[in-house]
Amino acid sequence: ILSLKDSGLKGKGGAGFPTGMKWEIVSKYSGKKYVAVNGDEGEPGTFKDKLYLEKDIHRFFEGMLIAAWAVEAKDIYIYLRDEYPGIREKMLREIKQLEKNKIIDESTTIHLRRGAGAYICGEESAMIESIEGKRGLPRHKPPFVSKIGLFGKPTLNHNIETVFWVREIIEKGASWFSSQGKNGRKGPHSYSVSGRVNKPGVKLAPAGITMNELINEYCGGMENGHKFYGYLPGGASGGLLPSSMANIPLDFGTLEEHGCFIGSGAIVVFSDKDDITKVVLNLLRFFEDESCGQCTPCRVGTEKAVKLLEKNDWNKKLLNELVDIMGDASICGLGQAAGNPIKCALKYFGQDIA
Ligand code: SF4
Repeated sequence: ILSLKDSGLKGKGGAGFPTGMKWEIVSKYSGKKYVAVNGDEGEPGTFKDKLYLEKDIHRFFEGMLIAAWAVEAKDIYIYLRDEYPGIREKMLREIKQLEKNKIIDESTTIHLRRGAGAYICGEESAMIESIEGKRGLPRHKPPFVSKIGLFGKPTLNHNIETVFWVREIIEKGASWFSSQGKNGRKGPHSYSVSGRVNKPGVKLAPAGITMNELINEYCGGMENGHKFYGYLPGGASGGLLPSSMANIPLDFGTLEEHGCFIGSGAIVVFSDKDDITKVVLNLLRFFEDESCGQCTPCRVGTEKAVKLLEKNDWNKKLLNELVDIMGDASICGLGQAAGNPIKCALKYFGQDIA
């Protein structure tokens, strides 16, 4: 736990909560505990977990078992995106081998659950509801899942990539990990880059790298005939920034002052050939589809936002009010952040909006 705390490893699913601290919190509870691993990878533009599982699934299992050992949990639930059937097969084989070779004893059970494709089940409490066999609706917080999680018990909940780093941090030391960042940030960071760049893909780069550096040093520059115009720094809900703001370090906590966040590192690059108003409409249609419907500000707000954005002439005052209400009154991150692309478009892309 000390090693993890020193390394500065943070949750790679999007929230960026310090991993060592999470282990410490859960390990302090006595009695029955669980580990839940979120492999739903539903954020549009995120594909890093898939890559890591395809490359070295064994390393993931090692990290997960070390985490379970550290918090003394005997039941582990993996919630895997059902669109990854090849990985599911690999996982089933791996679990059999662990049992056969007695790497896990009879008191430890690894359960593999299939996610049915709901974006909201990437939210930790909705995922837990889904694992319990209920409809995937986010819970009110507090209490947090570290205290009352799966089946009402303390639960250590992690993203696939977070546990993927555990073995290497233990082997090579906390300072090996923490020394890799840039611009005062710590550690390596996986960015899933898509859009108008020459070489899209998962880029393992220092945390704190800027968008300009990422495009030029890791993605082979922009595609021929395309001029860099803007980018999503953190998937559908992480906001939208213009190319003039591509010198901000990309990491947890660095983008918030600009109305954005890095989330799971899903970066989508746009060019002068893309219509930003269409990008925003597309994102809001996604949220309208994926809203779980539990609370009115999000259920009705996303629908209303789509209607307003479909008009050629945006009602900017009404859109701003709507986004503020959704942000203040929605239960979970989906409704709270769904308006980020609208806010950013109004703030940074005024010249593109009628
Ligand atoms: Fe469901 Fe949206 Fe409310 Fe979250 S904010 S609980 S997704 S309706």
